[in-house]
Amino acid sequence: MQKGRKEISKIVGLTSAQVEESRRQHGANVLTPPPRRSLLSQFIEKFSDPLIRILLVALLLSVAISVYEIVQLDKAMTVFLEPAGIFVAITLATLVGFLFEVNANKKFEVLNQVNDDVLVKVVRNGYVTRVARKDIVVGDIVMLEAGEEVPADGLLIDSVSLSINESTLTGELIAHKSHRPSDQNSDATYPTNQALKGTMVADGHGTMRVTAVGDATEYGKVYVEAQIENSTKTPIDKQFDKLGRFISVVSYIMGTVVVIGRLVIFDYSENSVLSIAFVEYFMKTIMLAVTLIVVSVPEGLPMSVTLSLALSMRRMLKSNNLVRRMHACETMGAATVICTDKTGTLTQNRMKVYEAQFFKLVGGDTLTEGDQESDLITEAVACNSTAFIDMSNPDSPIPIGNPTEGAMLLWLYDAGRDYLSVRQSCDVVAQLPFSTERKYMATVVRSSTLGKNVLYVKGAPEIVYALSKGSSTGVPKEQIDCCLSQYQQMGMRTLGFARRVLEEDETADIDAILKAQSLTFTGIVAISDPVRDDAPKAIEECRRAGIKVKIVTGDTQLTACEIGRQVGLWTDADTEQNIITGPEFAALTDEQLSDIVLDLKIVARARPMDKKRLVEALQKKNQVVAVTGDGTNDAPALNMAQVGLSMGDGTAVAKEASDITILDNSFASITKAVMWGRSLYKNIQRFIIFQLTVNVVACFIVGIGAFMSYQSPLTVTQMLWVNLIMDTLAAMALASLPPSEEVMREKPRRHKDFIISSSMIWFILVVGVVFTLVLFGLMQYLKQENIGSLVDFSFSRYFTLFTDFSHEASDEIKTYEQTIFFTIFVFLQFWNLFNAKAFESGHSAFWNIKKSTGFFGTLLAIFVGQILIVEFGGEMFNVDISGLRVVDWVIIIAATSVVLLIGEAMRAVSRYRRNCKERDNN
Ligand code: ATP
Repeated sequence: MQKGRKEISKIVGLTSAQVEESRRQHGANVLTPPPRRSLLSQFIEKFSDPLIRILLVALLLSVAISVYEIVQLDKAMTVFLEPAGIFVAITLATLVGFLFEVNANKKFEVLNQVNDDVLVKVVRNGYVTRVARKDIVVGDIVMLEAGEEVPADGLLIDSVSLSINESTLTGELIAHKSHRPSDQNSDATYPTNQALKGTMVADGHGTMRVTAVGDATEYGKVYVEAQIENSTKTPIDKQFDKLGRFISVVSYIMGTVVVIGRLVIFDYSENSVLSIAFVEYFMKTIMLAVTLIVVSVPEGLPMSVTLSLALSMRRMLKSNNLVRRMHACETMGAATVICTDKTGTLTQNRMKVYEAQFFKLVGGDTLTEGDQESDLITEAVACNSTAFIDMSNPDSPIPIGNPTEGAMLLWLYDAGRDYLSVRQSCDVVAQLPFSTERKYMATVVRSSTLGKNVLYVKGAPEIVYALSKGSSTGVPKEQIDCCLSQYQQMGMRTLGFARRVLEEDETADIDAILKAQSLTFTGIVAISDPVRDDAPKAIEECRRAGIKVKIVTGDTQLTACEIGRQVGLWTDADTEQNIITGPEFAALTDEQLSDIVLDLKIVARARPMDKKRLVEALQKKNQVVAVTGDGTNDAPALNMAQVGLSMGDGTAVAKEASDITILDNSFASITKAVMWGRSLYKNIQRFIIFQLTVNVVACFIVGIGAFMSYQSPLTVTQMLWVNLIMDTLAAMALASLPPSEEVMREKPRRHKDFIISSSMIWFILVVGVVFTLVLFGLMQYLKQENIGSLVDFSFSRYFTLFTDFSHEASDEIKTYEQTIFFTIFVFLQFWNLFNAKAFESGHSAFWNIKKSTGFFGTLLAIFVGQILIVEFGGEMFNVDISGLRVVDWVIIIAATSVVLLIGEAMRAVSRYRRNCKERDNN
């Protein structure tokens, strides 16, 4: 509480011309980001990846083999094409990884930009208005309120009970600030009358004149860019790390087995260990092992997650979700309960006074006549308030600050009263600002109407009434209660007003006066705030998605029930079991709370700590909780919940504590976030099944090939192309899939579930084994048959040769045949990508085709890439330089597309079964 406040509204602030001039002289209020690591150094860093190192070893080996072949075997220079191919693959892999990283980082920068766009209250051209933080200039008059971040450095010209959290600069949690010379503390790190950019207003309010902006501020001098936490590991990352480590170990073991196995089966009777043939064999063996490891280590997994998250973050921003912590994208998809505020989230936050009833007062110090009484009411509304009206456009005055107070000021404005001149005519002597805990606000002003100090109080009616003398209004309490409950049953917020005229010698100690319960209750006001149009639909979506919604509101039970009813949350079937008030809630023991917490739908007259306790109790019941909050006091609940959702117009403290900021405050955007989270998770699962299937097949084929012939059925460069497809291009294709509304029909997944479900394991194993068998048969066939075109292919021969191991170990596959094998291998994966896309979607792979342009674009890239490699890859890719004939292409594409056809047929059957079941259920 404090005394003697200068009225800010007497200050005109800068004119538009002065703003421009100041910006020219002192610059804009933005911080220059510290120099980033150069692109080159980011690129070079990619080479430290262990897998790239293995590839470099492969490159060295390949160069050595080529040199040996030229020197010893007199081969042509073209043998260098293989090392050249490996080199290209290394460059591509590092380049693609690098480009993704640069791109993802750009997307993360969005957060910092949005921070610069936060609106700040200023006085300009004689009006209180709001401008973006980055538009503040030196000389601006800025108004500060609890929970806000100080936008620039400035000197206080006014302050009421102001304290600022300076921990970002000095480590000091609470620094008391004041504009009055008598309050200056010479021990403080920064002058008591100075407010600094980047610090948070913890309590009270004040006004400052800006002295420095941007880099010139104290914060600017020590600024290290606050990056979004994209480096912290998300739960999904951790699962992937585990999975990646497991697969890596398995592939290293397999690599070792290949080396040992091949050394064991080598025919030492014909060639000694010192022979050239053995050295050549040994080098090739090492190359094979390296290829196997490169192909099977899923180095694309972490990148695919980062990419999916970065893409989701950007797209979620379009649906008004600003993701601050990456994990939130995905955790939101697992949410089972959403605890939501009412005002602004379910309602429009367009508060308007519906009806005001001020009583004709009788008796004692409250007896005032006609105009005088209405002057006092005007004073009560105008002075006992921290809100303003932006009247720069007189046709549409916009309330600024607390919306309830804004509604009251607009009510005065509509009645033709000028709140500003009334506020100017009364000095504030002491003030207790509104808080959700207290649920009232009290101000002692020097009344210009009475020439005396008057204490004005407004707040929750029952609380204000309790502070008043019982019979002061002359209106029976029952009558007041009846009126109030009528308003509340219409979903209105209600306020009670009271005052007391102080004696001349009475000190303005608000707490002491309130304790005496001697106020005069002067009237009640009902404020309407219509429900958002999209709220009922969003609540219904949550219900279908198996997510429970709970309203936590500071308003009364009746108001909350009515709003709950309007949005479709509160139904006739609901009873007292489903609603509780803050005080009742606080009185429950933990056990009692645990018994009822799942049934609760509404917590009315709640205080911020109730919210935190509610979140905790739900979590103990194994719920994944998302909670909304806009006030500073909501920070503990936001921190406690698995996903904290702050509101776009919430305080900076709430935003900082949250994982996602809902820019338009709307509940519908929260539902969108759930849909995004679930879709993201599914897309990652799809990527996993695709990649692991390729891994399984590639490992088997290379492994089997290693023991069955001198020559690998796939060369190193071919493998690298396959690797590129599955790691990067497939990740890109699947991460770019649009979110699907369908996911909102499913129940929430269990948070602790491993990302690879049993149905995925089945898919991977079945498809992996089938592909391996098909390719193994093909390998056998090509080894023993000499075909010049796929037209000559004989199925009966294929099946007879399947188990015929009688061929000589020296049987070589011709380059042409190897080209066929390689292309069939790639096309099997190509069609399987469609199946991965449609996995558990209940739709055909071609569903939602218009929105999946990214997916089909990437497929096209794979398709064209494969044709280019075969047609122009030559020795580098060990493909037949004359290429496949058109008829071969047609046969390969048509034959491998059976993979998609079978997938589509199975999906059609399961759709049919599902429809039948649904029909039966109805
Ligand atoms: P929700 O966000 O769900 O609407 P809340 O927690 O923000 O709820 P509060 O702002 O704490 O709700 O309001 C609780 C009660 O306090 C209101 O019903 C009203 O009676 C009173 N109240 C609200 N704003 C003010 C204010 N500025 N001054 C005095 N009393 C207020």
